[in-house]
Amino acid sequence: MEFLRALSWEEALALKGERPDAVPIQGGTDVMVEINFDVRRPGALLDLNPVAELTSWETADGRLRIGAGVPYARLIAELGDRAPGLAQAARTVGSPQIRNRGTVGGNLGAASPAGDCHPPLLAAGAQVEVESAADGVRMIPAEEFYVGVKRNALREDELIRAVWVEPAPGPQQFSKIGTRNAMVIAVCSFALALDPARGRVGTGIGSAAPTPIRATEAEEFLAGELDWDAPLDGAVAARFGELVGRAAAPIDDVRGTAAYRRHALSVMARRTLTWAWNDHLAEGGTAR
Ligand SMILES: Cc1cc2nc3c(=O)[nH]c(=O)nc-3n(C[C@H](O)[C@H](O)[C@H](O)COP(=O)(O)OP(=O)(O)OC[C@H]3O[C@@H](n4cnc5c(N)ncnc54)[C@H](O)[C@@H]3O)c2cc1C
Repeated sequence: MEFLRALSWEEALALKGERPDAVPIQGGTDVMVEINFDVRRPGALLDLNPVAELTSWETADGRLRIGAGVPYARLIAELGDRAPGLAQAARTVGSPQIRNRGTVGGNLGAASPAGDCHPPLLAAGAQVEVESAADGVRMIPAEEFYVGVKRNALREDELIRAVWVEPAPGPQQFSKIGTRNAMVIAVCSFALALDPARGRVGTGIGSAAPTPIRATEAEEFLAGELDWDAPLDGAVAARFGELVGRAAAPIDDVRGTAAYRRHALSVMARRTLTWAWNDHLAEGGTAR
């Protein structure tokens, strides 16, 4: 196996263009497990760790541009206020070791339906910045990025540069069910993002369909029913939960049954809405 090491973003793109079969490696917390278990044996690895551009985040055009190589530990430490949904999800990932090495770009590259970054990115309307030496930059909306089980929209010569999200315009919440509290793959997960000024609701469902998905009918229902100045209507919250459960397309597997996942999603949707609503009212209610 060849080991290619890129020292800059331009060099990484050039190497990927020359060797589309090279598997990018950032934290290695997915790639090394696959190699160790002989799930794959690529002809080459493309090490992105020396590429400093990937490990920073910035604010550009009023949005956060989070480099693909920013690890979970830094999302938690540095972006808890601006991207609270993503930071909450990051807190649930693996162990301290995995959170120090594992990155948002690696989560997107792996595109597991159970990956914890995906629901908050979907709920926040994130965009994934990808680039190739031949065709330049493409901005892919999160909901178009996941195209199948562990498959994403990257072309073979493209790399993930960053993920873009608006600094949270309102409360965001994330909830994950596992068989224990740490080092656990989600049985299912749910993220909610409220945007009071625009009257919008964003959702993301994890581990309950072939790809991470939004619950669009539930979003539209809730955005239409919410009175942003009033206490949360229990019937509206319950219906929102039902619609989230209905949006999922889960399977029975070793981690849980399809029926349990649907039920759990309904409960998580109601709970996250209640928490987010309490945050919204604590901030003084409507901004519309
Ligand atoms: C013990 C353990 C516990 C875990 N717990 C969780 C958990 O709770 N939740 C969770 O979501 N995940 C979990 N994971 C999986 C893993 O940690 C995450 O998916 C992590 O985000 C991967 O990031 P990484 O930087 O290590 O990726 P890598 O392993 O380096 O790469 C992952 C994939 O992304 C591709 N890739 C990486 N960077 C780029 C790039 N810039 N452009 C294009 N492709 C790229 C790689 O080629 C590979 O296909 C766990 C893993 C382990 C080993």
